[in-house]
Amino acid sequence: MAAPQEWSMSDFEIGKYIGEGKFGKVYLAREKQSGYVVALKVMYKAKLEKYRFHAHLRREIEIQHGLDHPNVLRLFAWFHDEERVVLVLEYAARSELYKVLRAAGHFTERTAATYVASLAGALAYCHKKQVIHRDIKPENLLLDIEGRLKIADFGWAARSNAKRHTLCRPPFYLAPEMIEKKAHDHAVDNWTLGILCYEFLYSSPPFEADEQDDTLRRIVRVDLTFPSSPCVSSEAKDLITKNCEFESSKRLSLEDIMKHPWIKKNAEPSGSCIKQKGLGRVKPVLI
Ligand code: AMP
Repeated sequence: MAAPQEWSMSDFEIGKYIGEGKFGKVYLAREKQSGYVVALKVMYKAKLEKYRFHAHLRREIEIQHGLDHPNVLRLFAWFHDEERVVLVLEYAARSELYKVLRAAGHFTERTAATYVASLAGALAYCHKKQVIHRDIKPENLLLDIEGRLKIADFGWAARSNAKRHTLCRPPFYLAPEMIEKKAHDHAVDNWTLGILCYEFLYSSPPFEADEQDDTLRRIVRVDLTFPSSPCVSSEAKDLITKNCEFESSKRLSLEDIMKHPWIKKNAEPSGSCIKQKGLGRVKPVLI
């Protein structure tokens, strides 16, 4: 895929450094003409080559560029020069959901249900576009300035016209059919939604074990138990249990998740659990 040539670094004022990934750094930036604030993900070609990441990146760009949903991080554009490949991304001011979860310990049912509903809506949209994410985990979920969830990082996503056979990472969130290297489809994302819902409410994923092999064994046995603390409603446990079904065809559909009584009762329709103080919607303006 050829990058549109009209963009270059000189189109942006580079602001603060946000963070570092495996292939480069992420910066806050402002597009000079429009003043629009974005995140620039600057990756080094040498590193991409070293780790043979080209194919993943190409897939990530191709897939993410075609997606436009309030809970999917927008990839506005991309360009490259001799040394670097640069992704122009929507800026997620509240950073990783993972960090928020670690700081909070676990989420309230209202917060957990709001994120699960946002995820279900975004995944339903992706699946309709024949995209399976396959790597949904807290580190790949970002929050915008209003606390709305954004799915990021489509490096492991796949087009789902046919059932897939390749195994992706990481163990805690893998569906049984991926561990058993069976053909898998969009239902792997539905499984992960159940796992994440559990982690949001209990602070760690359900099949965690010290050894990776034990985690994998617990997943294929669906060794699902609910601790007595924190206290979690039976409706939440019902949603988790119905998503953590070994048989992928028996899992709740994303539409059923969105209609589930626990979601109906708890999820914020706005997708945000953060109270705005009198100013209404906060505009992302400053670098
Ligand atoms: P990555 O290269 O995707 O692993 O990202 C490196 C760091 O930058 C991580 O801390 C991410 O949370 C952060 N980051 C990546 N993309 C964005 C974005 N669009 N908005 C805000 N922070 C981001």
